[in-house]
Amino acid sequence: MKVEDVQIPESAKKLLIETGFGELYPPQEEAVKTGALDGKNLVLASPTASGKTLVAEFSALKHVIEKGGKVLYLTPLRALASEKYEEFQKYARLEKKSGERIKIAISTGDYDSADPRLARYDIVICTNEKTDSLLRHRAHWMSDISLVVADEVHLLNDMDRGPTLEVVLARLLQINPDAQLLALSATIRNAEEIAEWLKARSITTEWRPVKLKEGVYLHGEVEFKDGSSYKVEEAYKNPAINMAVRILKQGGQALIFAETRKASVELANKASLVVKNFLSRPEERALKEASSKILETGERTRISKLLAELITRGTAFHHAGLYGPHRKIIEDSFRTGKIKVVVATPTLAAGVNLPARLVVVNSYERFEPGYGRYPIPVLEYKQMAGRAGRPKYDKIGEAILIARTPDEQEYLMESYICAEPERIWSRLAVERVLRSHVLATVASGFAHTEQGLYDFFDKTFYAFQYNPKHIRGIVGRALKFLAEEEMVRLDRERIVATDFGRRVSELYIDPESAVILRDGLYNRAEILTDTSFLHLICHTPDMAPKFYPRRKELKELELYLDEHREELMFPVPDEWTDRIAFEEYVAELKGARVLECWINEMSEDDIIERYAVEPGDLFRFVENANWL
Ligand code: ADP
Repeated sequence: MKVEDVQIPESAKKLLIETGFGELYPPQEEAVKTGALDGKNLVLASPTASGKTLVAEFSALKHVIEKGGKVLYLTPLRALASEKYEEFQKYARLEKKSGERIKIAISTGDYDSADPRLARYDIVICTNEKTDSLLRHRAHWMSDISLVVADEVHLLNDMDRGPTLEVVLARLLQINPDAQLLALSATIRNAEEIAEWLKARSITTEWRPVKLKEGVYLHGEVEFKDGSSYKVEEAYKNPAINMAVRILKQGGQALIFAETRKASVELANKASLVVKNFLSRPEERALKEASSKILETGERTRISKLLAELITRGTAFHHAGLYGPHRKIIEDSFRTGKIKVVVATPTLAAGVNLPARLVVVNSYERFEPGYGRYPIPVLEYKQMAGRAGRPKYDKIGEAILIARTPDEQEYLMESYICAEPERIWSRLAVERVLRSHVLATVASGFAHTEQGLYDFFDKTFYAFQYNPKHIRGIVGRALKFLAEEEMVRLDRERIVATDFGRRVSELYIDPESAVILRDGLYNRAEILTDTSFLHLICHTPDMAPKFYPRRKELKELELYLDEHREELMFPVPDEWTDRIAFEEYVAELKGARVLECWINEMSEDDIIERYAVEPGDLFRFVENANWL
């Protein structure tokens, strides 16, 4: 099917053809034929870069130009929202029937606002969390939405971000039963089940614009699923570097996934010493520019200096501890081909679109304190592997796992390469998670009785997938907590939010954090100082993850604790009988000290040196504390 034959407004068609779109990709054709442009709900599960966004663009343009509708585009991350916003900008010159140009907005921050300006826009791109907060503020324009696009719907399975997405979708369906819903997802096993929940049709494809070859490396040789193989020259000790060299010689780029941040920095450092030998003069010059950009952006720290140095050698590390704008420079320089090798943590695979000819999955295991080593889910591997192959630049993408023994090679081939990704499961049924959503449901007037609450939660994916009875139990317990903490009041049959409860819901903070803040202020410490308040903030669950101290910091922190005991609003847990709680408390104190240093304008580099926190984490920590 050609773009020319797609039933979208002529002006949009013309623009797309001018931009170079001719033929539809097979998943796009299937989506069109399945009713994406006829207002049908659809779950489209298809690999990265198989053109899902264009289907959403078609539908969005149809809604806005032809029907005068309004589109809400949901993404799980701010960086993805920015990416989509940039992609949609090309449509800003098209006109609606009224003669006005299409207006596109992005909204990702400030969780305490109904953002009334958004009412004037035709296409609004939001993170799931921002949408949740807009729903809590009863943004009136939400009922004008005629199309909801939900990107990366497989994240329903994510412990942290899944529940919000699930509640947002259920809520949007509740207030806008006639809106069309287009859910986009990576290839998953139970797309049909999600579709059934959303009363949608479903399409699952494995189609990719660039062929993907998946293989396992063992002792200098890569063996692929299709039986083919090649030898890798073992010029260096590290297999990932040897494979990267091979692809560099062919003019390609490599993306290596390392297990931890530390491993990503170390491997990038090693790789850079090799990669630098493959750079041309003009490439070196371009890299110098990118490197200076790093140094000119944000504060100079030992991390940014190392990053800048590695970039001059055509290599970078990439993880969530980096300062956001630095990550963007790396991504852009990789996309334009300047940086040749990026060593990233797996968070990259779930985030921005950054394909490379070669993807190496350096380790299929993860380590979690208290849990030990465990193999990653197939879905996570598939997401990393899916980054292999740059459309338009590469004919074939290669994704390679590394084995150390023949036995392991066989295991990796069977359990990852030939395996199907896991089913997606709802993660909603956790009382701590549900409290906030139960409170929001009452505080924003989406339910007025206990039965009303159950009716809403009966419509979630959890209730659909398991048993509504089970979620009712947890909703009931969450409600009891909220009533005991005076966030809701039971008034005969009716449930109403108190002023406190309403404010907590609007501020988008964990109800437990609110209880801690309130109790801390009532408790009062014997002496109130800045430390009292900074520790109070760090004592809340919204300040996660905590900055656990290194061993060498412990002594100093325990001394600090003794000196400031009288200033703290909560009793210090006993070091000997409740070691875990004590360690957590010390970590909170460390957080308070980090905040204090930041407030006193200690340089970022000194904070990094003294507390071993990374810029990206520091940024989020300060942002959270500021909000609280
Ligand atoms: P997904 O959302 O599935 O990850 P994208 O929609 O981002 O994939 O598409 C990946 C790339 O393919 C984009 O650069 C997009 O412009 C391009 N693309 C999409 N559809 C077509 C098409 N029909 N013809 C040519 N290029 C396309």
